Formats: sequence, C-alpha cells, structure tokens
Amino acid sequence: MLSLFEDTTMGLPRQMHKLVLVGLGIGLFIARALAGNDTVEDRLRQHITFLASDVCEGRGPGTKGIDKAANYIAEEFRKAGLKPGGPMGSYFQPFTVTGVAELAKPGSLVLHGSLGQTIELRPGIDFRVMGLSGSGNVSASLVFAGYGVTAPGIKYDDYQGVDIAGKIVILLRRTPRWSNRFLAFDGVRKEEHASLERKVALARVNKAAAILIVNDRSEASKGDPFMTFEYTSAAIGAGAPTAQIRRTAVDAILRSSLGMSLADIEQAIDRDLKPRSSPLFGWKAHLTTDVVRKTIAVKNIVGVAEGSGALADETIVIGAHYDHLGYGQRFSLAKEKKKAIHHGADDNGSGTTVLMELARRYGAMPSHNGRRLVFIAFSAEEMGLLGSKHYCNKEPLFPLARTVAMVNLDMVGRLTKSAKGTGDKLIVEGLGTAKEFEKLLDRLSSGAGFDLIKKKGGTGPSDHDSFYRQKIPVLFFWTGMHKDYHRPTDTADKINVRGMKKIATLAERVIGELARGQRPAYVKVAESFVPRAGNIPRLGIMPNYESENEGVLVGGVSDGGPAAKAGLKVGDLIVEIAGRPVTNINTYMAVLGQTPRNQPADVVVLRHGKRVNLKVTPQ
Ligand SMILES: [Zn+2]
Repeated sequence: MLSLFEDTTMGLPRQMHKLVLVGLGIGLFIARALAGNDTVEDRLRQHITFLASDVCEGRGPGTKGIDKAANYIAEEFRKAGLKPGGPMGSYFQPFTVTGVAELAKPGSLVLHGSLGQTIELRPGIDFRVMGLSGSGNVSASLVFAGYGVTAPGIKYDDYQGVDIAGKIVILLRRTPRWSNRFLAFDGVRKEEHASLERKVALARVNKAAAILIVNDRSEASKGDPFMTFEYTSAAIGAGAPTAQIRRTAVDAILRSSLGMSLADIEQAIDRDLKPRSSPLFGWKAHLTTDVVRKTIAVKNIVGVAEGSGALADETIVIGAHYDHLGYGQRFSLAKEKKKAIHHGADDNGSGTTVLMELARRYGAMPSHNGRRLVFIAFSAEEMGLLGSKHYCNKEPLFPLARTVAMVNLDMVGRLTKSAKGTGDKLIVEGLGTAKEFEKLLDRLSSGAGFDLIKKKGGTGPSDHDSFYRQKIPVLFFWTGMHKDYHRPTDTADKINVRGMKKIATLAERVIGELARGQRPAYVKVAESFVPRAGNIPRLGIMPNYESENEGVLVGGVSDGGPAAKAGLKVGDLIVEIAGRPVTNINTYMAVLGQTPRNQPADVVVLRHGKRVNLKVTPQ
C-alpha cells in the first residue's frame, strides 16, 4: 500500500472510518481447488517466503531483486496455465519511472568574502551536495534566513522583511527550540516545519536561486555531521542547487558580516522567537551542482485466463502490486532511515501470493464459462500507483470500456480476529462502487468466518484507485494496518498463511461470480470533504503525482470541497495560489501553509494550455 505525504491536502492516509461490523453467511460457488489444505498452505508459504527474502531485495524498482520476483511470478503464471497478457507474447508489460537522484559530480562551492578573500570549499569535507538538489550553476550574494520557516499560527516568519530573490540563502536545519521538550516550536507542527522538502520548497517560493543548509545546534553537538546524499535522494527538491555546508564556514561568514556567531544567533532566536534574517553584506558564493535522476525500467506482469461464451469479450482484472520499498529511504517509516531491506511480506508479498494462488486455481480451468480474467502483478505502486496508472492511463491491454470490475489485494497477510470476536477481520472497500457489490459480498462471505469491515468508496492508496477513476467498479481486500507497515520488520514469519488461504478462497468465489451474470453497475460514490483542524488549509483536491510539468496536476476533486465549489477540474494544472508560484507538491503545500483559511484566494490553473483564474476559499 502506498504511503502518502501526511500533510498533503489529499486527506490521506485515510483514517479508518467508524465501521459497521457485520457477520455474514456464505454460499459456495466455485469448486474448490484439487489440492489438499496443507499443500495450499505450503505453497503460499513458499511464495511469500521467497518474495520477502533478501534475494528479492525488498523488491525496490531498479534492484535486481525485483526482477527476480518478476520472473518468479511470471513463471507461476506460466505454470498455472495463464496465457501471456503483455505486449509481444510476453508476461511483462514494461514501462519506466524516474528513479532517485544520483550525484554525477561532487560539485563546487566557492565563497567570496567582504575583504576580497576567496575560499574554495572541499566537496565532501566542507560542503556536500544534497540528494534533493537540482543541477545548476549559481553565482549570487548570500542571505541568512534563519530556519527558513514561516509559521503564521505563531506569527513567526524567517522570510519577513528579507529579500532572497535570486540570492543564495543559508538556512538552519529543523526549527527554533527543536530540542525543547517543554516549549516546542509551534507545537505539533514542529516536524512539518522542519521537513527538508518543505524548507527548500519555501525557499523556492521566495525565489531563492540556491540553498545552503547548515546543521542546527542539535546536530552540532554530534560533530556537525553531513547528511548522506541518499538521505534525500528520493525526496522532491525545489529544482535549485542545494548543498549542506559546515557550521564553521557559516560561522565565519556570520561573524564577519553580522558580528555574531551562528550559535549566538540560534540562541537569540530560541529565546524570543524573533527571526534574525539578514543579507550577508559583502559575501557572495558560487555553487555548482550536477545531479541526475535516472530512468528506471519496471514492468507489470500480466497473465490471462480466457473465458468462453457470450461474455468472453469482457474482462475482470485481478490485481496485486509486487513492488515494495527496496532498501527503504523515502517512504520508509523506520525511525532511523538507514539502508535496510524492507521485506514487504504483508505489503504486498501477501497480495501477490494470493494472486498467484488465484491464477493457479483459474488457470487450471481452461476457458471457464464467462468473462476473461486478467491477473496483473503491478510494479511501482509504492511510488504512486505507477504500474496501475500506466495500465489504466497509457496502455490498457484489454479495453477498459469492457473491463467490468477490478479486484485488488494489497496487504492480506495479517488476518486476525475482529474486535467483535465472531470472525476474522477483513476489510472490503469499494462496496459502493457497483450496485450489486454489497449483497454479493454478504452472500459469498456468509458462514466463511469473516467479520467484514465494509467501506463503500473506491478511491484510496492502492491500485484499485486507478481503475475506479476509469469508472470501473472495484473491490479491495485487506487485513489492516500494523506496526511493521513500511518498516524492515514486515517479514514473512509474521504472515498468517492460513488467513491468506481463507482470503484466496473468498476472492475465488467473488471472482467466479463476477466472471458471469449481469455486468456490475458502476456507481460514483460521493466522497465528502472533511476539513481537518489544526493542519494546513485544504483545497480538497487530490494531486496527480505523475505530472512532469511545473505545477500541481489535479487528479481528483473532493465533492463539496473548496476546489469543487470554485470549479476546479480534474486535469487542471495549478500554477499559482495567492500570487505565489506553485511548481510541485511541496511548493503547493508551502504556499497553502501561508494562505489563510476561509478567505477567498486567487488560484491560477492551466486548463488546455490556457491560464484560468479562479477564486478558491481554502478550508
Ligand atoms: Zn506499501
């Protein structure tokens, strides 16, 4: 399952709604597979153990490990008797994604002092280009802008009264009073302000040409360490050259220009929470950076069980993403973001395992009566549902207009007793996306020992979302969040293998029923806009992360939200809010963070290439 920025306006990660627990009865449909029970469990255990093993390297796009996993899945599809569904008779549907940043050259940083001195800093020793840096070559005056934080809630703004346009700005890491447990800066929003992505975005919004980051006091005591390049190589930068610089260098500049040491300035800000931003008179710098972001080849794996009869031309997609976080980094939730294999047993070795099991069961029935079943193991889901988006938006291998339903399995490996205690907790989403779905699930799960947690909506942080946006009814099965989510500890030994078998059997029945009979009638589920207190104002849009253009592409609009009321449409590219440029999701968040709630703001979007001005009232 995809993890999302906690502070986007998407309203995600979605909170579990108050749910109705319903006990259900069952009706048998498809003949059970031939094999005995323990054989099934052995097979499932074997699959998930392999997918979550070190050999597969956390199945991160760009690793050899994910290709080993892909070959394994394709081989299982072949053994199951599925036909290759990819282009040119292959099981693979290749596409590309943009990878993490790599440092092409160490870069250079030269300081020119007020007395005419030239100080050449050594890469890796005196400064280090950061992973979120853009490439460039900037020669400009230096400005110190404190922590680079704007916190309107507590009337603190490092950018007030200081012009950094076209300049190289020096920023401290983190926030004032970072280590003060009793008097934390801006309370719970401390971490949000400290985010490096946010910080460089805000500098960019204020038109900085380049950014130099210096450790705050809390890091100084540890010997003023550099962040590794990888620490931010998967982050979204501001496009501007960005480097970390040693405290000693900044200290020398501040003493020479302002007559105060860096430590003194930090202490002063901490004391009265008054910014100490200032141009650094007489000081200039020349920064060059060379950072490349490679294109990574990835692939979905597609296997087909053709149907027969009148409905054979229609398709049911059964999907599960097989990628995970590789060695962690950006989307890891582990405290110390060290390079470690994120095994992704539950997320989503489990769904992939059930997918292979379903393929085996249906592949063994040549030309079952009814619709075509297309089994897809999606890649790059964790990078923003990229595999399913590629399939739906760029290269549907079977016509979407005749794709009547999509069943998604993502994190189905942690089946446990429900709170009610009358069965196992299984979350089923998308029940409102087709008229027939709730009754269907009630009937098919009756007596199977599940307490279903039912959700109507068809959007959310996994691949079914991409299909629902194409007006295809979806069903999404999962067993819930846990403390190992997106951590290296999501391992195979914690998987409930018998639970996966149980889910496979329910999914098998559901798919069997979907393959025949009436086409499910698509329903648009109204997703109501819920303003969140104490956070950044929201417009009620869901950004589309695929866009390569500068701006924020609107991928969805919440019904009844500010954007919907103002007439924003899916496909609009937001380029300006309240007169400030929006270049990516981070500048979007930075600008919104400074835009008052409940007051109309000018929003400029590009719609079919034309600038359109709208008045939106953030909530
Ligand atoms: Zn995930």
